[in-house]
Amino acid sequence: MSLWGLLSMSVAEITRTAPTKLESTDYYHMDDLLTDQEREVRYRVREFMMNEVEPIINDYWERGEMPMELLPKLRALGITGGPIPGYGCPGLSSVSMGLISMELSRGDGSLSTIYGVHSGLAMLSIFFLGSEEQKQKYLPKMASWETIGCFGLTEARGGSDAAHPETTARREGDSWVINGNKRWIGLANIADFCIVWARNEETGKVNGFIVPSNTPGYKAVPITGKIGKRAITNCDIYLDNVAIPLENKLENSNSFRDTAIVLGATRIGVAWEAIGHAMAAYEYALDYAKRRVQFGKAIAGYQLTQSKLVNMLGKITAMQMMTLRLSQLIDQGKVTEGKASLAKAFNTANAREVVALGREILGGNGILLENHIARHFADMEAVYTYEGTHDINTLVVGREITGVQAFA
Ligand SMILES: Cc1cc2nc3c(=O)[nH]c(=O)nc-3n(C[C@H](O)[C@H](O)[C@H](O)COP(=O)(O)OP(=O)(O)OC[C@H]3O[C@@H](n4cnc5c(N)ncnc54)[C@H](O)[C@@H]3O)c2cc1C
Repeated sequence: MSLWGLLSMSVAEITRTAPTKLESTDYYHMDDLLTDQEREVRYRVREFMMNEVEPIINDYWERGEMPMELLPKLRALGITGGPIPGYGCPGLSSVSMGLISMELSRGDGSLSTIYGVHSGLAMLSIFFLGSEEQKQKYLPKMASWETIGCFGLTEARGGSDAAHPETTARREGDSWVINGNKRWIGLANIADFCIVWARNEETGKVNGFIVPSNTPGYKAVPITGKIGKRAITNCDIYLDNVAIPLENKLENSNSFRDTAIVLGATRIGVAWEAIGHAMAAYEYALDYAKRRVQFGKAIAGYQLTQSKLVNMLGKITAMQMMTLRLSQLIDQGKVTEGKASLAKAFNTANAREVVALGREILGGNGILLENHIARHFADMEAVYTYEGTHDINTLVVGREITGVQAFA
């Protein structure tokens, strides 16, 4: 478009950012390395985010409300319970799972976390650690979103040191009685049950318990005033002598090492999430830089802007290649805790820089919600911190490569 053409556009037209498109940043042709099934699921999710989510999500984000109207549509996408075979779940490959996380967060981080909490943390806890009876009872209804689950590990006084919860479980007759608190728990205000991680008073070990949210003594209170992930509710949970049947203990959760199996799997999803946020920021920034005229030409034509864009693209490409390989290693049984943590730490640090550069390229318009990039910028702060902070994941890799634990 000529300079005159640009000058004759309305303010709204000039400032609008609009790279809502099916294809995405793929400089080194990652798509060529995917199977047809992986490509299909990726585009299915992208189309959903583009058509159903991006047009409405800013309003929810600004109001700090969850987009409940999207849950039936999320269900219809056929991705819930992703990697789980059977129980009404699709049994997708690890690479497909990564691409789903990437495309969800490329559209919106809150929806990505809604999916990650219910379909990832809660369903995988039951799949990895539940008895066959527990799987049959919960997973099919969770796959159809008839029953919603959440995951309660973090406490007000214990975030990074998750292996030492203050919440306790003691056996009394036919019940487990749970006391304590949980903090930051996504979906807890709408969930039918929470997987609560508590220290077994008999063994001293951490066990997981399926705690129905209508149990007397259980209270979930939404946390307000968040500056990121505003379209998913996080809660404080208070547990005051909450009595649940003995069979509600996840049968195969015997110590925190079992909890770590679930976290290892979901942490890789978070590494992919970071890529999605970075891609969105890059795509909005590139589009804007080509249209935004200053000093007589589009800012894309200035060396400093190009340097920022290239920096962003390099980071995205490195993250894509590294994380694709990591997901392939899962299916080959070669992933370790350190390998998963490396991708989480590396990707969230790099994506955090990418969204900041993208925000910068949009100038003042970059802090306006209507241009989307501000939402990715703010949401990325939470991604950097949850599922193990950047520091803790770094120290997990450090422990694996040196043999020395440096965080306790
Ligand atoms: C939006 C959001 C959603 C979340 N959803 C859930 C959920 O659904 N379920 C759930 O259970 N939890 C959830 N969390 C909690 C999340 O996992 C924790 O916030 C995270 O583990 C960090 O714990 P913390 O916030 O208590 O920080 P802290 O552990 O208090 O850490 C504070 C700072 O100290 C650093 N630090 C801590 N220990 C060390 C050390 N040994 N060496 C060096 N540095 C250290 C940390 O890296 C961090 O920078 C969520 C959090 C957020 C923000």
